[in-house]
Amino acid sequence: MNESLITLLDTTAHPYGFRFDWLNRLSDGLAKTAKTVPKITITTTDVHNAMECPGLWEATKNSNATTRRTAYGGRQATLTRQLARRWIQATLKSPVRPFIYVEAQLKDFSWMNPEQAQWISQQQFEERIETVSEISTVLSRIEKDIECEDFKLSAATGMRQTQIEIGNLTLISDDVDLCVGTHEIEGEGAWAKTVLLSFVSDRPTKNDLEKLGFSAAMHAITTGCPPARVIAYGLFDGLSRHIDVDADWIGLQIGSIMATAKTISRIRNGEEPAYTPGECCERCPMNTSCEASGHGWSPF
Ligand code: SF4
Repeated sequence: MNESLITLLDTTAHPYGFRFDWLNRLSDGLAKTAKTVPKITITTTDVHNAMECPGLWEATKNSNATTRRTAYGGRQATLTRQLARRWIQATLKSPVRPFIYVEAQLKDFSWMNPEQAQWISQQQFEERIETVSEISTVLSRIEKDIECEDFKLSAATGMRQTQIEIGNLTLISDDVDLCVGTHEIEGEGAWAKTVLLSFVSDRPTKNDLEKLGFSAAMHAITTGCPPARVIAYGLFDGLSRHIDVDADWIGLQIGSIMATAKTISRIRNGEEPAYTPGECCERCPMNTSCEASGHGWSPF
């Protein structure tokens, strides 16, 4: 976790090549699966939950427990991430200082959801200044870490395509905040050059990187080449974790989407989900009623 972000965003020294026919075979496999299932929308969270425990996927869907508070505080973390994404987009077009940007954005409620608009509009002057300072401090660190001036020519904000339809499957990704670089086509394949970066609220974990696998797979399918690297960047501590993408990892991610589609289809058809207890039981809405739960187990 010690490499600087600007080093990680640079893929010139790490060329990874992928053949088009290899990726086409994976895409064909996904398209075949998409024909055998009913209409299903799949997100990063669906894949993550279904692969950990199909019972968790069902329990989470039933409880609508889709949001978790973070150590920093859920609503401010969400707002900071949204503003980081918006600020990068704005500053790549025309540089704007973080404090000025955040202060102006928090006076404009049109882009916020109703809950955020209510929260911010009810803040007293001192609270507002505190919020502006805290968020702009995070943005200033990002500005320093990614050296915006240097990479802006090849940068785009967010995934280039956040929703794709493949037969009966709709895949939706919302966890990539920055997409830098473009692959280079050569002969029957392409050199991967793109970096997908996700801002996370807590210290970045292995789990955060694994979750980016879904977006990496979508990126591969939509552009014809996997990203070279995925990075999870901690908004509040500035630490990064990354994976240099290889063929096995992308194959695993596309396989996980297929497996998730089949799992969801079986559950929707009335089959009882399989239960695969583990650490996931800690965050499962069913952890006190599920007989398979490993929650609270302790080693002998
Ligand atoms: S409690 Fe554990 S085993 Fe049971 S459904 Fe939830 S995650 Fe699966």
